[in-house]
Amino acid sequence: MTTLPTSVSTVSPGHYLQFASDNTSGICPEAMQAFMAANTGFAASYGNDDATRLACDRIREVFEADAEVFFVFNGTAANSIALASLCQSYQAVICSDTAHVETDECGAPEFFSNGSKLLSAPHRHGKLTSAGVLEVITRRTDVHYPRPKVVTLTQSTEMGSVYQKGEISGISRIAQEHGLKVHMDGARFANAVAALKVAPADITWRAGVDVLCFGGTKMGLPIGEAIVFFDRKLGEEFSYRCKQAGQLASKMRYLSAPWLAMLTDNTWLRHAAHANAMAHSLSERIAGIAGAELLLPTEVNGVFVNLPEPAIARLKALGWTFYTFIGGGARFMCSWVTTEEAVDHLASDLERVLAG
Ligand SMILES: *Cc1c(COP(=O)(O)O)cnc(C)c1O
Repeated sequence: MTTLPTSVSTVSPGHYLQFASDNTSGICPEAMQAFMAANTGFAASYGNDDATRLACDRIREVFEADAEVFFVFNGTAANSIALASLCQSYQAVICSDTAHVETDECGAPEFFSNGSKLLSAPHRHGKLTSAGVLEVITRRTDVHYPRPKVVTLTQSTEMGSVYQKGEISGISRIAQEHGLKVHMDGARFANAVAALKVAPADITWRAGVDVLCFGGTKMGLPIGEAIVFFDRKLGEEFSYRCKQAGQLASKMRYLSAPWLAMLTDNTWLRHAAHANAMAHSLSERIAGIAGAELLLPTEVNGVFVNLPEPAIARLKALGWTFYTFIGGGARFMCSWVTTEEAVDHLASDLERVLAG
């Protein structure tokens, strides 16, 4: 096996074969350094420390908004309690039927909202459409059906696509016209910003998004996501909700300090752009391999491929890890730490197993 670049020498060699998810990557050096640096002396607990204050300020700068910011442990919690804060238990959340909140959160959004129903709408490459959202909103108005109160969209999506600015504002406008709030699951928000090369504000509050769950883990942080309320009023009392949900870290500095490092000097976008570039490179290689069918356009850091079962089995036997239950094919995810070498090696192995 090829040796790893020294910058990731702390990550086990098995990492090299990992394309299962961007959350199988380790902690990026910048975040790790900040994590270690945070470990000096005492600091006020529960977010009343300097690192947390600076990280919140930095997030406000990055988004050019006087937002209310909270740090929680993971994306499921972030989505669930953010959504719960936006609706009553008898109200509903519109999502695409491929949304993580619908397929991969074990009912947590419903649980934390005391029963708000998720209403799924059709998608195109994982993206909601204005027409689909409007259909769900106007479907029923009687008391027997839950009232739609929130639209949630994932940026970038579970199927590796990206909402353009206009697509977000189009959905937001319909939501606003009908009194709905807009939530964004940004577990891979960094990849979307890097791909679109836009100001983060342009695809969030300027496009009508009220609340963003900004993903940290997949872009290279050790742990944690940031919940960003662009409308401060919506974030009122949210700290109580965090605490009640078991999402208020007492040693908050270890969650927040790496955020500050990540959002300094565009580190987050550099890493995300790298992950995207690796996926594009893999995608281009796969496009030239007989027997491998690209299922979806590669827009960010995921490559979705239709492969015959025996080829999947042989790849797995060679040690490659990837999921086959998301997006209808084999999914190869790239991260900040994926190397061109690993991409090459995977593509060669793919060619080999498909040649029989
Ligand atoms: C990974 C992911 C999350 C968060 O998952 P956790 O494992 O709870 O951190 C949320 N939404 C999407 C789209 C994801 O891919």
